[in-house]
Amino acid sequence: MKIKISGGMVVNPITMTEEQRDVLIENGMFVDDLSGQPEQIIDATGLTVMPGLIDPHTHLRDPGFEYREDIVSGTKAAVRGGITAVACMPNTKPVIDNPTIVRYIKDKAAAEGFCKVLPVGAVSKNQDGKELAEIGLMAEQGIVAISDDGKPVLTADLMKKAIQYAAQFNLVVISHCEETTLADGGHMNEGIVSLEMGLKGIPTIAEDIMAARDILIAEYLGLPVHLAHLSTAGSIELVRQAKARGVQVTCETCPHYFTLTEEACRDFNTNAKMNPPLRTQMDVDAIICGLKDGTIDMIGTDHAPHHADEKQIEFGLANNGIIGFESSFALGYTYLVLPGHLTLPQLVAKMSTRPAELFHQKMGRIEAGYPADLVLVDLKKPFSFDKHASASKARNTPFHGWMLHGLIKKTFCDGKVVFE
Ligand SMILES: [Zn+2]
Repeated sequence: MKIKISGGMVVNPITMTEEQRDVLIENGMFVDDLSGQPEQIIDATGLTVMPGLIDPHTHLRDPGFEYREDIVSGTKAAVRGGITAVACMPNTKPVIDNPTIVRYIKDKAAAEGFCKVLPVGAVSKNQDGKELAEIGLMAEQGIVAISDDGKPVLTADLMKKAIQYAAQFNLVVISHCEETTLADGGHMNEGIVSLEMGLKGIPTIAEDIMAARDILIAEYLGLPVHLAHLSTAGSIELVRQAKARGVQVTCETCPHYFTLTEEACRDFNTNAKMNPPLRTQMDVDAIICGLKDGTIDMIGTDHAPHHADEKQIEFGLANNGIIGFESSFALGYTYLVLPGHLTLPQLVAKMSTRPAELFHQKMGRIEAGYPADLVLVDLKKPFSFDKHASASKARNTPFHGWMLHGLIKKTFCDGKVVFE
């Protein structure tokens, strides 16, 4: 299939520029010239053309929790949000801790998925923090990183071994930074709001202490570590200082950490309950600052679908997390680009090119020789985000009814239209 996409404003997250030009696709790849006349011409006049987004942090719940989400519904929701590859965390049932489960996910995604799925293997067997999982065998089957996400790796010794062992396979360890003696039993950020609501809080230092530990381990070893879903001013500052010393640390944040504060929990809204919890305006400001100065490398959704019965209960009993695929780009555009914190190419780099680099995937660029993963987006017309229109099985989002800019119009994966 030879496709020409004409008249769009094309975002280049490598040169950090935007230019109006045609994009050419042949046999699922971007090309400089077609070998003949295009079989399809798509008029993108008035639209912006971006590389397909890559989400470095998602929970597809498959296998084991398909009542919340599965690979088909999850990837269908992803492409509606302009996302063409998702890294899925291993806290499934069974845990992604062996090559058979990795194979299952890759095969199901290839057969029935709407976009690419990049499995993240567990650090430890059954994520119980005791013994390393079958990392080498999982690497052979195509995991892109290892993590015990959902839980921290509690012992520093196991984290050290994981970083050393993963490096032999050119894999990064993704750290869920949470010191559980400080965090366990907490339902929201520890502070004035938790006090007023009478809920046990999770202090910011629960995140900061683990971030510091894993930065120090990576620094000692001279090897990389990636810190997931950072939410505090303290952890951002630790990463900033570590980068200045030359430590190979990368990190991500999520849209909810630059758009919401602990105030969202006030009416016991369980769609504002997540882990790490929503913090204060001071933390939000620090995260935006970290995104601007490059301390925060990328943005992931931490897409965490839950059944309504797991959220429509008492705040203290409700599960943590929110869905994120279909709102993440628009939240980034509306809250980071429109106020002038980031340029559009900088946002796209954090949502596409940088995650591709972290996982050593040939993706995230509109360039000859790269797979034709592409998004057409209307940046001009505002829209009201509607959770009922989601392709996810879940509806747990605090963003329902928000007026946003950045409506995804069409998504291509390997040159095929997967959403319009
Ligand atoms: Zn996590």
